[in-house]
Amino acid sequence: MVKRVTQKVDSEVMIRINRRIILQLIRQKHMISRAELVKLTGLAAPTVSRIVDRLVNEEDLVRYARIGDSNGGRPPVILEFNPKEKHVLGIDLGATLIRGVLADLDAEIEMEVQLQTDKEQGYQAVVNQVVNVAEKLLSKRGLDASKVIGLGIGVPGLLDKAKGIVTFSSAFNWKNVKLKEDLEARIGMPIFVENSTRLMALGEKTYGQGKDLRNFIVVNAGHGIAAGTVVEGQLTNGGQGFSGEFGHMTVDPNSPIICDCGRKGCLEALSSGRSIALAARQNPDAAKSISELCMVSIDRIEAKTVFEACRRGDASAEAICLKAIEYLSIGVANLVHLLDPTHILIGGGLSLNRDEFWKPLTAGIRNRLMVPNREVKILPAEFKEYDTVVGSLAMVLDSILGLDIG
Ligand SMILES: [Zn+2]
Repeated sequence: MVKRVTQKVDSEVMIRINRRIILQLIRQKHMISRAELVKLTGLAAPTVSRIVDRLVNEEDLVRYARIGDSNGGRPPVILEFNPKEKHVLGIDLGATLIRGVLADLDAEIEMEVQLQTDKEQGYQAVVNQVVNVAEKLLSKRGLDASKVIGLGIGVPGLLDKAKGIVTFSSAFNWKNVKLKEDLEARIGMPIFVENSTRLMALGEKTYGQGKDLRNFIVVNAGHGIAAGTVVEGQLTNGGQGFSGEFGHMTVDPNSPIICDCGRKGCLEALSSGRSIALAARQNPDAAKSISELCMVSIDRIEAKTVFEACRRGDASAEAICLKAIEYLSIGVANLVHLLDPTHILIGGGLSLNRDEFWKPLTAGIRNRLMVPNREVKILPAEFKEYDTVVGSLAMVLDSILGLDIG
């Protein structure tokens, strides 16, 4: 009895592995016949036929492209990947904004929905918002959940990726919330949860500037600060899956500013978008001059307002920006010395600023590097504010179709 169960499991595992290999080949080769699949995989012809039939008729992932040339016998049917029939959802669950996209299976974005995050209302309210974003994306295209292979979601914080539990998110003040389970109960499709900055790195590695790079770092400089690292071609997860909490590296042990994580002197507390906005609002002279120059009330001053005031020549705004950028450059230089990346890609809200951000940052990083390290390339992340959603699409597509991300 036990043996029979084992055999059944084995054969199901084999079917899954073979399906993944065949699907990967069809995607890579663009046009391929069953006979070529048999030759390339070494699988028996009936096995290939059974899997192909399922991919064509049940899963809608492969279609018949045309009839090929005959070599004397019956002309072969040429198969191709069918990226347009099914879809994938990607969500960037940020502390200020929820960005959701619907894409085809080539990760081409077809639709986008954004909502301001209602995080003050608590976990359940945010779950409701995510469900709402997913439903809006489907209803706008008149799709039901069966047309979507899965939903990938990026969350800031420490996660148990396999269980889909957010172990700790200082941005949301969540501890041990079962995000995957709670979303799966509401949205009828597989849900994949991952740290938002690691997804930025995955997005760059799969579709962006990291495609041909073996060692690079993506720095997420936004509401919080984090880093996604690719070392020797592999995205780093860490022992518990918590790697990349770069923002909680101590950069000033004497700083009185308390970070979201409860400690003092963290990089994030001194250089994130949130900290720049707070520094401006809490300094009476700076707050007055920035609010007058940019015509916003003091409680509406955001990091981008401070950068705008800096661009317009406000000295107090410039001092706040330069201080934050100095800390960020200390942190990034430390990463370069530790990991020796060839490229640093910087994304997140702060990276959307112009010279007033980039010039002091790149100069600050280079000035802190040992001379040979100064060759490292410092560039904006390719997908800018879309990096996390692109990564979330890559995560689902790899899990279900096998992108062979490596
Ligand atoms: Zn911290």
